[in-house]
Amino acid sequence: MTETVERVDVLIAGGGYVGLSAALAIAASVPGARVALVDPRPWREASGDGRAFAVAAAGRRMLGALGVWDGLSGEAEPVREMIITDSRLDDLIRPVFLTFERQEGNDGPLAHMLPTGPLVAALGAAAEKSGVRFLSPDSVAATEPLPGGRRVTLASGRTMLASLVVAADGARSRLRAEAGIGVNSWSYGQSGIVATIEHERPHDGRAEEHFLPAGPFAVLPLKGGRRSSLVWSERSDIAGRLVGGEPFLFDTELARRLGHRLGKLSVVGKRQAFPLGLALARRFTAERLALVGDAAHAIHPIAGQGLNLGFKDAAALAEVVAGALRAGRDPGAADVLGDYQRWRGFDTIRMAAMTDGLNRLFSNDLLPLRLVRDLGLGLIDRLPPVKRALIAAAAGAPGPTPRLVDGEPI
Ligand SMILES: Cc1cc2nc3c(=O)[nH]c(=O)nc-3n(C[C@H](O)[C@H](O)[C@H](O)COP(=O)(O)OP(=O)(O)OC[C@H]3O[C@@H](n4cnc5c(N)ncnc54)[C@H](O)[C@@H]3O)c2cc1C
Repeated sequence: MTETVERVDVLIAGGGYVGLSAALAIAASVPGARVALVDPRPWREASGDGRAFAVAAAGRRMLGALGVWDGLSGEAEPVREMIITDSRLDDLIRPVFLTFERQEGNDGPLAHMLPTGPLVAALGAAAEKSGVRFLSPDSVAATEPLPGGRRVTLASGRTMLASLVVAADGARSRLRAEAGIGVNSWSYGQSGIVATIEHERPHDGRAEEHFLPAGPFAVLPLKGGRRSSLVWSERSDIAGRLVGGEPFLFDTELARRLGHRLGKLSVVGKRQAFPLGLALARRFTAERLALVGDAAHAIHPIAGQGLNLGFKDAAALAEVVAGALRAGRDPGAADVLGDYQRWRGFDTIRMAAMTDGLNRLFSNDLLPLRLVRDLGLGLIDRLPPVKRALIAAAAGAPGPTPRLVDGEPI
Protein backbone atom coordinates (compact mmCIF):
# COMPACT_ATOMS: atom_id res chain seq x y z
CA MET A 1 0.00 0.00 0.00
CA THR A 2 1.43 3.44 -0.91
CA GLU A 3 1.62 6.04 1.81
CA THR A 4 -0.47 9.18 1.10
CA VAL A 5 1.53 12.20 2.06
CA GLU A 6 0.06 15.66 2.22
CA ARG A 7 1.80 18.16 -0.08
CA VAL A 8 2.41 21.87 0.59
CA ASP A 9 4.38 24.55 -1.24
CA VAL A 10 6.11 25.93 1.85
CA LEU A 11 6.33 24.49 5.35
CA ILE A 12 7.66 26.79 8.04
CA ALA A 13 9.18 25.24 11.17
CA GLY A 14 8.83 27.81 13.95
CA GLY A 15 6.10 30.33 14.68
CA GLY A 16 8.24 32.95 16.39
CA TYR A 17 8.38 36.54 15.15
CA VAL A 18 10.30 35.67 11.99
CA GLY A 19 8.48 32.43 11.11
CA LEU A 20 5.11 34.17 11.43
CA SER A 21 6.34 37.08 9.29
CA ALA A 22 7.65 34.76 6.58
CA ALA A 23 4.41 32.74 6.54
CA LEU A 24 2.30 35.88 6.33
CA ALA A 25 4.50 37.50 3.67
CA ILE A 26 4.33 34.44 1.39
CA ALA A 27 0.63 33.68 1.91
CA ALA A 28 -0.44 37.32 1.52
CA SER A 29 1.63 37.77 -1.65
CA VAL A 30 0.50 34.60 -3.44
CA PRO A 31 -3.18 33.88 -2.81
CA GLY A 32 -3.76 30.15 -3.04
CA ALA A 33 -0.20 29.22 -2.04
CA ARG A 34 -0.21 26.26 0.32
CA VAL A 35 1.68 27.51 3.34
CA ALA A 36 1.82 25.56 6.61
CA LEU A 37 3.42 26.61 9.88
CA VAL A 38 4.40 24.26 12.71
CA ASP A 39 5.15 25.34 16.27
CA PRO A 40 4.82 23.62 19.67
CA ARG A 41 2.86 26.64 20.91
CA PRO A 42 -0.26 27.96 19.11
CA TRP A 43 0.14 31.70 18.43
CA ARG A 44 -3.09 32.46 20.33
CA GLU A 45 -1.47 31.13 23.50
CA ALA A 46 1.76 33.05 23.04
CA SER A 47 1.41 36.25 25.00
CA GLY A 48 4.96 37.37 24.24
CA ASP A 49 8.00 36.82 26.40
CA GLY A 50 7.96 40.03 28.44
CA ARG A 51 10.41 41.75 26.07
CA ALA A 52 9.88 44.75 23.85
CA PHE A 53 11.81 45.11 20.61
CA ALA A 54 13.23 48.17 18.93
CA VAL A 55 11.67 47.89 15.49
CA ALA A 56 13.65 49.95 12.96
CA ALA A 57 12.10 51.96 10.13
CA ALA A 58 12.66 49.08 7.68
CA GLY A 59 10.75 46.65 9.92
CA ARG A 60 7.98 49.18 10.47
CA ARG A 61 7.57 49.68 6.71
CA MET A 62 7.39 45.91 6.23
CA LEU A 63 4.75 45.50 8.95
CA GLY A 64 2.87 48.32 7.21
CA ALA A 65 3.05 46.60 3.81
CA LEU A 66 1.79 43.38 5.45
CA GLY A 67 -1.19 45.29 6.85
CA VAL A 68 -0.38 44.82 10.54
CA TRP A 69 1.26 48.11 11.50
CA ASP A 70 -1.97 50.13 11.83
CA GLY A 71 -3.26 47.71 14.47
CA LEU A 72 0.07 47.77 16.30
CA SER A 73 0.90 51.46 16.22
CA GLY A 74 -1.21 52.09 19.35
CA GLU A 75 1.15 49.79 21.28
CA ALA A 76 4.36 51.23 19.84
CA GLU A 77 6.39 54.04 21.37
CA PRO A 78 8.47 56.13 18.98
CA VAL A 79 12.12 56.56 19.96
CA ARG A 80 12.75 60.23 19.21
CA GLU A 81 16.20 60.59 20.65
CA MET A 82 19.02 58.32 21.72
CA ILE A 83 21.99 59.19 23.87
CA ILE A 84 25.11 57.11 24.31
CA THR A 85 27.54 57.35 27.20
CA ASP A 86 30.76 55.51 27.96
CA SER A 87 31.35 55.38 31.68
CA ARG A 88 32.32 53.36 34.72
CA LEU A 89 29.60 52.02 36.98
CA ASP A 90 30.03 54.52 39.80
CA ASP A 91 30.83 57.61 37.71
CA LEU A 92 28.62 60.36 39.11
CA ILE A 93 28.49 62.16 35.81
CA ARG A 94 28.17 60.27 32.57
CA PRO A 95 29.22 62.58 29.75
CA VAL A 96 27.08 62.13 26.66
CA PHE A 97 29.35 61.28 23.72
CA LEU A 98 26.80 60.73 21.06
CA THR A 99 23.24 61.93 20.54
CA PHE A 100 20.89 60.87 17.79
CA GLU A 101 17.73 62.79 17.10
CA ARG A 102 15.25 62.18 14.37
CA GLN A 103 12.59 64.72 13.47
CA GLU A 104 9.06 63.64 12.65
CA GLY A 105 8.52 64.07 8.92
CA ASN A 106 12.12 63.09 8.18
CA ASP A 107 11.07 59.46 7.76
CA GLY A 108 9.85 59.32 11.34
CA PRO A 109 11.55 58.37 14.61
CA LEU A 110 14.76 56.34 15.03
CA ALA A 111 12.77 53.20 15.88
CA HIS A 112 9.58 52.12 17.65
CA MET A 113 9.57 50.09 20.85
CA LEU A 114 7.02 47.31 20.45
CA PRO A 115 6.05 44.74 23.13
CA THR A 116 6.30 41.16 21.87
CA GLY A 117 2.74 40.09 22.91
CA PRO A 118 0.84 42.37 20.52
CA LEU A 119 3.39 41.65 17.78
CA VAL A 120 2.77 37.88 17.89
CA ALA A 121 -1.00 38.39 18.09
CA ALA A 122 -1.06 40.74 15.09
CA LEU A 123 1.18 38.54 12.93
CA GLY A 124 -0.69 35.35 13.91
CA ALA A 125 -4.13 36.80 13.17
CA ALA A 126 -3.02 38.25 9.82
CA ALA A 127 -1.30 34.99 8.81
CA GLU A 128 -4.42 32.99 9.65
CA LYS A 129 -6.56 35.41 7.64
CA SER A 130 -4.20 35.07 4.67
CA GLY A 131 -4.73 31.31 4.64
CA VAL A 132 -1.67 30.03 6.49
CA ARG A 133 -2.43 26.61 7.95
CA PHE A 134 -1.29 26.34 11.55
CA LEU A 135 -0.19 22.92 12.75
CA SER A 136 0.08 23.61 16.47
CA PRO A 137 0.83 22.29 18.96
CA ASP A 138 3.31 20.15 17.09
CA SER A 139 6.95 20.33 16.11
CA VAL A 140 9.21 19.24 13.31
CA ALA A 141 11.02 16.06 14.36
CA ALA A 142 12.95 15.37 11.14
CA THR A 143 13.21 16.40 7.52
CA GLU A 144 14.74 14.64 4.55
CA PRO A 145 15.28 15.81 0.97
CA LEU A 146 13.59 13.61 -1.65
CA PRO A 147 13.22 14.11 -5.36
CA GLY A 148 10.55 16.83 -5.78
CA GLY A 149 10.29 17.89 -2.14
CA ARG A 150 11.50 17.63 1.43
CA ARG A 151 9.73 15.13 3.60
CA VAL A 152 8.81 16.53 7.00
CA THR A 153 8.00 14.30 9.95
CA LEU A 154 6.22 15.98 12.83
CA ALA A 155 6.45 14.91 16.47
CA SER A 156 2.77 13.84 16.23
CA GLY A 157 3.77 11.28 13.59
CA ARG A 158 2.18 13.19 10.71
CA THR A 159 4.27 13.38 7.53
CA MET A 160 4.15 16.02 4.82
CA LEU A 161 6.01 16.79 1.62
CA ALA A 162 7.03 20.42 1.10
CA SER A 163 8.61 21.98 -1.98
CA LEU A 164 10.44 24.26 0.45
CA VAL A 165 11.04 23.95 4.18
CA VAL A 166 11.85 27.14 6.08
CA ALA A 167 13.82 26.75 9.30
CA ALA A 168 12.59 29.52 11.59
CA ASP A 169 13.23 27.46 14.70
CA GLY A 170 15.51 29.87 16.53
CA ALA A 171 19.15 30.10 17.52
CA ARG A 172 19.48 26.41 18.44
CA SER A 173 17.88 25.33 15.17
CA ARG A 174 17.36 21.60 14.99
CA LEU A 175 16.65 21.78 11.27
CA ARG A 176 19.94 23.59 10.62
CA ALA A 177 21.92 20.94 12.51
CA GLU A 178 20.08 18.09 10.84
CA ALA A 179 20.87 19.55 7.39
CA GLY A 180 24.56 19.55 8.33
CA ILE A 181 24.90 23.35 8.16
CA GLY A 182 27.74 24.42 10.44
CA VAL A 183 27.76 27.59 12.52
CA ASN A 184 30.49 30.00 13.51
CA SER A 185 29.58 30.70 17.07
CA TRP A 186 30.92 31.95 20.37
CA SER A 187 29.47 32.95 23.66
CA TYR A 188 30.07 36.44 25.04
CA GLY A 189 29.93 35.08 28.58
CA GLN A 190 27.27 37.73 29.05
CA SER A 191 23.52 37.52 29.55
CA GLY A 192 20.99 40.15 28.61
CA ILE A 193 18.83 40.96 31.62
CA VAL A 194 15.39 42.08 30.50
CA ALA A 195 12.75 43.75 32.66
CA THR A 196 10.11 46.44 32.42
CA ILE A 197 10.29 49.36 34.84
CA GLU A 198 7.86 52.05 35.87
CA HIS A 199 9.31 55.43 36.72
CA GLU A 200 8.18 58.64 38.31
CA ARG A 201 9.29 61.05 35.57
CA PRO A 202 8.43 60.74 31.86
CA HIS A 203 11.00 59.39 29.40
CA ASP A 204 9.97 61.84 26.66
CA GLY A 205 10.73 59.24 24.00
CA ARG A 206 14.41 59.17 24.89
CA ALA A 207 16.46 55.97 24.77
CA GLU A 208 19.74 55.71 26.65
CA GLU A 209 22.57 53.29 26.15
CA HIS A 210 25.36 53.35 28.71
CA PHE A 211 28.47 51.43 27.73
CA LEU A 212 29.52 50.08 31.11
CA PRO A 213 32.54 47.82 31.63
CA ALA A 214 30.36 44.68 31.99
CA GLY A 215 28.47 45.45 28.77
CA PRO A 216 25.84 47.80 27.38
CA PHE A 217 22.96 48.90 29.61
CA ALA A 218 20.01 50.21 27.61
CA VAL A 219 16.81 51.91 28.81
CA LEU A 220 14.22 52.06 26.06
CA PRO A 221 10.96 54.03 26.20
CA LEU A 222 7.60 52.24 26.23
CA LYS A 223 4.07 53.44 25.56
CA GLY A 224 2.48 55.47 28.32
CA GLY A 225 5.43 57.77 29.03
CA ARG A 226 6.38 56.35 32.41
CA ARG A 227 7.41 52.82 31.51
CA SER A 228 10.68 51.65 29.96
CA SER A 229 12.24 48.39 28.91
CA LEU A 230 15.71 47.42 30.15
CA VAL A 231 18.26 45.43 28.22
CA TRP A 232 21.14 45.11 30.62
CA SER A 233 24.21 43.03 29.70
CA GLU A 234 26.16 41.49 32.57
CA ARG A 235 28.52 38.59 33.08
CA SER A 236 26.27 35.52 33.01
CA ASP A 237 26.96 34.41 36.61
CA ILE A 238 26.14 37.89 37.94
CA ALA A 239 23.07 38.16 35.71
CA GLY A 240 21.81 34.84 37.10
CA ARG A 241 22.21 36.07 40.67
CA LEU A 242 20.49 39.38 39.89
CA VAL A 243 17.52 37.76 38.21
CA GLY A 244 17.15 34.87 40.63
CA GLY A 245 18.00 36.78 43.81
CA GLU A 246 16.22 39.19 46.12
CA PRO A 247 14.33 42.01 44.34
CA PHE A 248 16.05 44.44 46.70
CA LEU A 249 19.50 43.54 45.31
CA PHE A 250 18.23 43.92 41.76
CA ASP A 251 16.65 47.30 42.51
CA THR A 252 19.84 48.58 44.16
CA GLU A 253 22.04 47.56 41.23
CA LEU A 254 19.52 48.99 38.81
CA ALA A 255 19.50 52.36 40.57
CA ARG A 256 23.34 52.42 40.48
CA ARG A 257 23.26 52.09 36.73
CA LEU A 258 20.26 54.25 35.94
CA GLY A 259 20.85 57.24 38.20
CA HIS A 260 18.07 59.64 39.15
CA ARG A 261 16.90 61.09 35.84
CA LEU A 262 13.66 59.06 35.79
CA GLY A 263 12.90 59.48 39.50
CA LYS A 264 11.59 56.61 41.64
CA LEU A 265 11.66 53.22 39.93
CA SER A 266 9.87 49.92 40.31
CA VAL A 267 10.14 46.70 38.32
CA VAL A 268 6.87 45.41 36.86
CA GLY A 269 6.53 41.77 35.82
CA LYS A 270 9.31 39.25 35.58
CA ARG A 271 13.08 39.68 35.45
CA GLN A 272 14.67 37.44 32.86
CA ALA A 273 18.18 36.72 31.58
CA PHE A 274 18.96 35.60 28.03
CA PRO A 275 22.44 34.14 27.34
CA LEU A 276 24.20 36.21 24.67
CA GLY A 277 26.37 34.89 21.89
CA LEU A 278 27.00 35.13 18.21
CA ALA A 279 25.95 32.29 15.93
CA LEU A 280 26.25 32.71 12.20
CA ALA A 281 25.22 29.82 9.94
CA ARG A 282 27.88 29.05 7.30
CA ARG A 283 25.14 28.78 4.66
CA PHE A 284 21.56 29.98 4.74
CA THR A 285 20.30 27.22 2.46
CA ALA A 286 20.53 23.50 1.84
CA GLU A 287 18.57 21.27 -0.51
CA ARG A 288 14.98 22.58 -0.34
CA LEU A 289 15.72 24.30 2.94
CA ALA A 290 16.12 28.01 3.81
CA LEU A 291 17.15 29.39 7.20
CA VAL A 292 15.59 32.63 8.48
CA GLY A 293 15.86 34.69 11.65
CA ASP A 294 17.93 33.44 14.58
CA ALA A 295 18.27 30.03 12.91
CA ALA A 296 20.50 31.84 10.40
CA HIS A 297 22.08 34.44 12.70
CA ALA A 298 21.89 35.21 16.41
CA ILE A 299 23.67 38.45 17.27
CA HIS A 300 24.30 40.62 20.34
CA PRO A 301 21.35 42.93 21.16
CA ILE A 302 23.73 45.91 21.55
CA ALA A 303 22.16 47.62 18.55
CA GLY A 304 18.68 46.02 18.75
CA GLN A 305 19.01 44.55 15.26
CA GLY A 306 18.43 40.75 15.53
CA LEU A 307 14.74 40.75 14.74
CA ASN A 308 15.19 43.53 12.21
CA LEU A 309 17.59 41.27 10.30
CA GLY A 310 15.05 38.45 10.59
CA PHE A 311 12.30 40.65 9.12
CA LYS A 312 14.55 41.29 6.13
CA ASP A 313 15.14 37.53 5.72
CA ALA A 314 11.38 36.97 5.71
CA ALA A 315 10.86 39.76 3.15
CA ALA A 316 13.65 38.57 0.84
CA LEU A 317 12.61 34.92 1.02
CA ALA A 318 8.96 35.80 0.39
CA GLU A 319 9.98 37.84 -2.66
CA VAL A 320 11.98 35.05 -4.33
CA VAL A 321 9.40 32.40 -3.41
CA ALA A 322 6.49 34.54 -4.66
CA GLY A 323 8.39 35.14 -7.94
CA ALA A 324 8.80 31.38 -8.42
CA LEU A 325 5.22 30.45 -7.48
CA ARG A 326 3.73 33.10 -9.75
CA ALA A 327 5.82 31.86 -12.63
CA GLY A 328 4.59 28.33 -11.95
CA ARG A 329 8.10 27.33 -10.84
CA ASP A 330 9.35 25.24 -7.96
CA PRO A 331 9.86 27.50 -4.89
CA GLY A 332 12.45 25.08 -3.50
CA ALA A 333 14.60 25.02 -6.66
CA ALA A 334 18.32 25.55 -6.16
CA ASP A 335 18.45 28.80 -8.17
CA VAL A 336 15.57 30.31 -6.13
CA LEU A 337 17.41 29.49 -2.89
CA GLY A 338 20.67 30.77 -4.40
CA ASP A 339 19.02 34.16 -4.95
CA TYR A 340 17.95 34.22 -1.30
CA GLN A 341 21.40 33.27 -0.03
CA ARG A 342 23.11 35.97 -2.14
CA TRP A 343 20.59 38.59 -1.07
CA ARG A 344 20.91 38.06 2.67
CA GLY A 345 24.49 36.90 3.11
CA PHE A 346 26.38 40.18 2.99
CA ASP A 347 23.91 42.26 5.01
CA THR A 348 23.94 39.65 7.78
CA ILE A 349 27.72 39.35 7.99
CA ARG A 350 28.03 43.15 8.06
CA MET A 351 25.58 43.48 10.95
CA ALA A 352 27.07 40.50 12.86
CA ALA A 353 30.55 42.01 12.54
CA MET A 354 29.32 45.43 13.62
CA THR A 355 27.53 44.20 16.75
CA ASP A 356 30.39 41.86 17.66
CA GLY A 357 32.97 44.65 17.23
CA LEU A 358 30.92 47.16 19.22
CA ASN A 359 30.45 44.74 22.09
CA ARG A 360 34.16 43.86 22.20
CA LEU A 361 35.18 47.50 21.97
CA PHE A 362 32.94 48.70 24.76
CA SER A 363 32.59 45.77 27.19
CA ASN A 364 35.85 46.42 29.00
CA ASP A 365 37.54 48.99 31.17
CA LEU A 366 41.01 49.35 29.62
CA LEU A 367 41.96 53.02 29.88
CA PRO A 368 43.75 53.44 26.50
CA LEU A 369 40.80 51.81 24.75
CA ARG A 370 38.36 54.04 26.62
CA LEU A 371 40.23 57.15 25.50
CA VAL A 372 40.31 56.08 21.86
CA ARG A 373 36.66 55.07 21.73
CA ASP A 374 35.50 58.21 23.52
CA LEU A 375 37.46 60.30 21.06
CA GLY A 376 35.80 58.32 18.27
CA LEU A 377 32.30 58.84 19.68
CA GLY A 378 32.97 62.53 20.22
CA LEU A 379 34.17 62.89 16.64
CA ILE A 380 31.14 61.11 15.23
CA ASP A 381 28.90 63.43 17.21
CA ARG A 382 30.49 66.41 15.45
CA LEU A 383 30.30 64.91 11.95
CA PRO A 384 26.70 65.05 10.71
CA PRO A 385 27.29 62.91 7.55
CA VAL A 386 28.77 60.07 9.64
CA LYS A 387 25.88 60.31 12.08
CA ARG A 388 23.42 60.21 9.22
CA ALA A 389 25.12 57.08 7.85
CA LEU A 390 24.89 55.41 11.28
CA ILE A 391 21.20 56.32 11.58
CA ALA A 392 20.58 54.90 8.11
CA ALA A 393 22.39 51.67 9.06
CA ALA A 394 20.34 51.34 12.25
CA ALA A 395 17.17 52.01 10.28
CA GLY A 396 18.03 49.09 8.05
CA ALA A 397 18.59 51.14 4.91
CA PRO A 398 21.85 49.97 3.23
CA GLY A 399 22.00 47.30 0.55
CA PRO A 400 19.37 46.38 -2.03
CA THR A 401 16.18 46.12 -0.06
CA PRO A 402 13.36 43.64 -0.53
CA ARG A 403 10.14 45.32 -1.65
CA LEU A 404 8.30 44.69 1.62
CA VAL A 405 11.10 46.44 3.50
CA ASP A 406 10.58 49.44 1.22
CA GLY A 407 6.92 49.35 2.29
CA GLU A 408 5.71 48.00 -1.07
CA PRO A 409 3.72 44.83 -1.68
CA ILE A 410 5.57 42.01 -3.44
C1 LIG B 1 17.84 40.45 25.42
C2 LIG B 1 17.50 40.55 23.98
C3 LIG B 1 16.96 41.73 23.45
C4 LIG B 1 16.69 41.85 22.10
N1 LIG B 1 16.21 43.04 21.61
C5 LIG B 1 16.02 43.17 20.28
C6 LIG B 1 15.55 44.42 19.73
O1 LIG B 1 15.32 45.39 20.44
N2 LIG B 1 15.38 44.51 18.38
C7 LIG B 1 15.65 43.45 17.55
O2 LIG B 1 15.52 43.61 16.32
N3 LIG B 1 16.05 42.25 18.04
C8 LIG B 1 16.25 42.08 19.37
N4 LIG B 1 16.66 40.88 19.87
C9 LIG B 1 16.79 39.71 18.95
C10 LIG B 1 15.46 38.94 18.80
O3 LIG B 1 15.03 38.50 20.06
C11 LIG B 1 15.62 37.72 17.89
O4 LIG B 1 16.33 38.08 16.74
C12 LIG B 1 14.24 37.17 17.50
O5 LIG B 1 13.55 36.74 18.64
C13 LIG B 1 14.38 35.99 16.52
O6 LIG B 1 13.11 35.50 16.21
P1 LIG B 1 12.94 34.08 15.52
O7 LIG B 1 11.51 33.97 15.12
O8 LIG B 1 13.99 33.87 14.48
O9 LIG B 1 13.31 33.01 16.66
P2 LIG B 1 12.55 32.67 18.01
O10 LIG B 1 11.86 33.87 18.54
O11 LIG B 1 13.57 32.00 18.87
O12 LIG B 1 11.41 31.63 17.59
C14 LIG B 1 11.71 30.29 17.28
C15 LIG B 1 10.40 29.51 17.24
O13 LIG B 1 10.66 28.19 16.76
C16 LIG B 1 9.89 27.27 17.51
N5 LIG B 1 10.54 25.95 17.36
C17 LIG B 1 11.72 25.54 17.92
N6 LIG B 1 11.99 24.29 17.53
C18 LIG B 1 10.97 23.90 16.70
C19 LIG B 1 10.71 22.70 15.96
N7 LIG B 1 11.51 21.63 15.98
N8 LIG B 1 9.57 22.65 15.22
C20 LIG B 1 8.73 23.72 15.15
N9 LIG B 1 8.95 24.87 15.83
C21 LIG B 1 10.07 24.96 16.59
C22 LIG B 1 9.87 27.84 18.92
O14 LIG B 1 8.76 27.34 19.66
C23 LIG B 1 9.75 29.34 18.62
O15 LIG B 1 8.38 29.74 18.54
C24 LIG B 1 16.95 40.75 21.22
C25 LIG B 1 17.46 39.55 21.75
C26 LIG B 1 17.74 39.45 23.10
C27 LIG B 1 18.32 38.16 23.63
